[in-house]
Amino acid sequence: MQGDDDYMHIQEFQKMMRRLYFHRDSERGLKGTFNWLVEEVEELREALENGDRKEVEREFADVIAWLSSLANITGVDLEKAALAKYEHKCPKCKKAPCACTF
Ligand SMILES: [Zn+2]
Repeated sequence: MQGDDDYMHIQEFQKMMRRLYFHRDSERGLKGTFNWLVEEVEELREALENGDRKEVEREFADVIAWLSSLANITGVDLEKAALAKYEHKCPKCKKAPCACTF
């Protein structure tokens, strides 16, 4: 773990995924990696329905791992992109907390 506490930044997690998997991710390519992400999101849905906490946590981990792989392939910095859009306020109504109507 890095930083002052036991938490890792999204950027550090993405870099770790790059070190672990980029050679395989780049070979698999955009479409194949995107399909894996979709499959993991589906598995997260199933885990949420089953309600097994450990399984839910594992599926969240898979989703962020595959999202990171996809970002690595496309050269997107997830943390930068996320904060550029969602920096302490809702991008639609510009309020915190969000005051958009459903
Ligand atoms: Zn809003």
